[in-house]
Amino acid sequence: MVSCRNCDIVYTQRNSSVTVYEKFSLEVDTGECLALIGPSGCGKSTLLSMLAGLRPPTRGMVQINGRNVTAPRLETGFILQEYGLFPWLTVEGNIRLGLKIRGLDRRQEECRIDDLLEELDIRATKKRYPNQLSGGQRQRVALARVLVLNPDLILMDEPFSSLDALTRESMQRLLLDIQKNHRLTTILVTHSIDEAVLLGTRILVLTSMPARIAGEISNPLAGTSGYRASEEFFLQTKRVRTLLSQQLVAQSMIDC
Ligand code: ADP
Ligand code: MG
Repeated sequence: MVSCRNCDIVYTQRNSSVTVYEKFSLEVDTGECLALIGPSGCGKSTLLSMLAGLRPPTRGMVQINGRNVTAPRLETGFILQEYGLFPWLTVEGNIRLGLKIRGLDRRQEECRIDDLLEELDIRATKKRYPNQLSGGQRQRVALARVLVLNPDLILMDEPFSSLDALTRESMQRLLLDIQKNHRLTTILVTHSIDEAVLLGTRILVLTSMPARIAGEISNPLAGTSGYRASEEFFLQTKRVRTLLSQQLVAQSMIDC
């Protein structure tokens, strides 16, 4: 469903250029939850921006459902680490924003927003502003704002990293429910090995720049109940940790 083929991404600044990706290819199937993990600065956010249509590759091709991606598409939801909520709009206003483009009438909009507020358990925050919300509530609003557009693909860039441990766990559970209910394909960048194993049906470990796929771990038990406490979960986190630490050692040798 999502594919990028032979993509180069080069940032050019004045006289210097940085090659973040060189002939990079990736395929993500419909319904998959792909977890991306890799050394800091290796290009994870850049990859999401490219898939979102915000940063076209310098060379190569990105396709979603067989169509070239050359600009952001309405069916792709992009959730950033810092939530990207507008502080001058209420929760309702933030969620309504995307609907303007869809041309629904006021009553349809109202129903859609209320259903999502209910599903995400933030009905009581409807008239509040972002600075009156907890981190977890802001993250739920950011999710609602994306879901209201009926996406088929969600890109998430370290979405839970600034949440406390308990809130993060409840957001992870919520994401699993939402993925199921809305039949979403998800690409999740995370720096947490546990999170990658808990949520990703496939886990990709990236190398430092130019980023390549250092290893790929199939993780079909992701999202199943009781997985976090199981022996298999522990083994999978060990596999990811080993691959990741090889990358960090390689990077430190380059840095020396
Ligand atoms: P990650 O998300 O894995 O931490 P990024 O995708 O943000 O990494 O960045 C990858 C590399 O590209 C980094 O070395 C970063 O400094 C560089 N980079 C990111 N954005 C730009 C930009 N707009 N101009 C120049 N270099 C950039
Ligand atoms: Mg990043």
